[in-house]
Parts: sequence; C-alpha cells; structure tokens
Amino acid sequence: MWQVIGQDHAIRQLKAGLELDRLSHAYLLVGPPHVGKRTLALNLAQAVNCTPEGDTVPCGQCSQCRRIAAGHHADVRVIGLDQGNSGGPQRREISIDDIRTVSGQAHLKPYEGACRVYIFEDAETMSEEAANALLKTLEEPPPQTLLILLTSQEDRLLPTISSRCRRIELRPMPQEEIASYLEKSRSVEKGDAERLARLSRGSLGWALLALQDSLVLERRKSELDRLIGLLDAHIEQRFHAASDIASLYYRDRSEAMEVLDIWLTWWRDLLVMREGAEDSVYNQDYIDSLQQWSLRYSSRQITDFIGAVLSTLKALDHNVNPRLSMEVLMLAIPGVGPRPQE
Ligand SMILES: [Zn+2]
Repeated sequence: MWQVIGQDHAIRQLKAGLELDRLSHAYLLVGPPHVGKRTLALNLAQAVNCTPEGDTVPCGQCSQCRRIAAGHHADVRVIGLDQGNSGGPQRREISIDDIRTVSGQAHLKPYEGACRVYIFEDAETMSEEAANALLKTLEEPPPQTLLILLTSQEDRLLPTISSRCRRIELRPMPQEEIASYLEKSRSVEKGDAERLARLSRGSLGWALLALQDSLVLERRKSELDRLIGLLDAHIEQRFHAASDIASLYYRDRSEAMEVLDIWLTWWRDLLVMREGAEDSVYNQDYIDSLQQWSLRYSSRQITDFIGAVLSTLKALDHNVNPRLSMEVLMLAIPGVGPRPQE
C-alpha cells in the first residue's frame, strides 16, 4: 500500500508505470521539505521489489516490503547528508566517493530483491564532481537498477542531471486536508489539528514530526522569540546570535537553515498583517506581537529584509562563510520607527 498522503497524482503516475512495465530508470521527486518525498521513494523501492501477499503492490507485508521499511534491505540504499558519519557534524555534500560506491555496485545483480534502488536525499547538495560522475550512470543505466533523486531545491541541480530523470512533483497539501487527517487518523483534537496544519505550510510530514517530538514546536517558538529579541537589540547581541547560528550551521546545516526559514515566516506574517489579512498569518500565536511590529516597519523595509534572508540562505547553500553571512544579515535588520504608543 502506498503510504504517501495527499499526493495521489504522483502515485497515479508511478502506478501506471508499474502496471505497464514502463518505469523510468531514474526519477526526480521535487517538493518542499517533509512533504513525503522520502516516503514515496521508499514505497517505490518496495513496489519494484515486492512479492505481493494479496493484490496490491507494494503490499507492505512481504519480506521484501518489510525489510525495506525497516532499512535492512541489501539492495535499497539511501544516500544523504546524514549517512556515514554517525555522531559527527552533518556532512555538507554528497561526495564523489558516494557516487563511486553507487556506480560500482549498480552493475551487480541485486543481492536479495529484484531491483537495486538508490535514493539520493537532498540531491542538490551533490558536488559538481559527484553530479558528473552520476551522469555516467544516468546515461547508461544498468539493468535492474532504479535511481531516485529527491530535492526541495530543484534549481540547484545541474540541468544535465534533472533532464535525465523523470520528474514528479509533490505539492503542499491544503491546510484543511492536513487538519482533517490529523483529526481522523491521529486523533488530534480539532483546535490543535488546525494549529499544526497552519504551521505545517502544507507539509504533512512536518505536522507528524511536530506531533511526535515536542522539541519541534519548542524550537520554533524559541527561534521566533530570539528573532523578536534581536529587533531592538544592540549590535553586540546581534553578532552574538550570528556566531551562535554559524556554530549551529557547522553542527547541523539543515537545522541552521531552518532557523532562517522560521524567521522568514515571521517577516512574511508582518507583510500579511500590513495588508490586513490577519487570517492568513501562520504564526497565529504571535498575532499581538505581529500587530505591534507591523506598525513599526514599512512594507518596503519588510520586503528588503525578506530579500536579505533569502540571499543569506542562498549564500549558505553555496558554502559562503556562515559567520560572515549571518553578520551581514544582522546588519540588514531594519531600524524601527517609534513604538506606536509613544
Ligand atoms: Zn510486498
């Protein structure tokens, strides 16, 4: 059974490929973080290896399906930034060594299943060398091998890579669908389900993660509080925060990027408030603070700073010195007008 929720169009495409025996040898799954790319990729790995118990493929019950779900299948490998360095800082890229290992194995017959599957998470982090090496495998695909590339930043992939994959887009789910799924399938109380759905920005996986791990919501709150604290702060405090986020970047790149992503939601909300569209605010629990701050910035200042955060994210993507990038961002925090009541 396909486990991805709210991506029926993507499942339909893959099912048709399976039924007609017309699967591509390489897929590119595109979509925002936590939208279901990895789940879909693993489901596809199950589907091509499944020895179905029953009528549906992937059945989820046979030993192939179960071993893949548990991460124990010898022919299914996930290559990403978290692999191969347990305990150490997160890797910054998928390296040429990763690709050499894959291309070395890809020509061998599968060990235990019908098809070797290589799933590349955050495929956009592939170094240029690595991408060029992968290109050879994409151009002359070995039989019984399936490559699945996952990305939330398609524009960072080399066009020579993406053009050789069949592209499937996973779209953010409507907020009401996420809320209703949380209520019905996870027994979440209506108010909480709606709140989580709003914060998830269309990524069911994020909502499920937040449900499971209270740290996700706590981190969001502490990052928003930090941001608000910095708006009025002296430059020393801002630089202190810059160095803090830069150190986080070295430990866990994606978590540091997420901090800026959380900040972006707040600045976007400020704009929304200025436009009087209070209902569309993500961070509803910050509505009073948003209300006040929206009166102290002009729309121009807000959009300029949003631009600065986006440039910082881009710079971090390209491995520019994180501390320097963060300091530049701190200097870009716009000066505020007087408090409205003053
Ligand atoms: Zn199965």
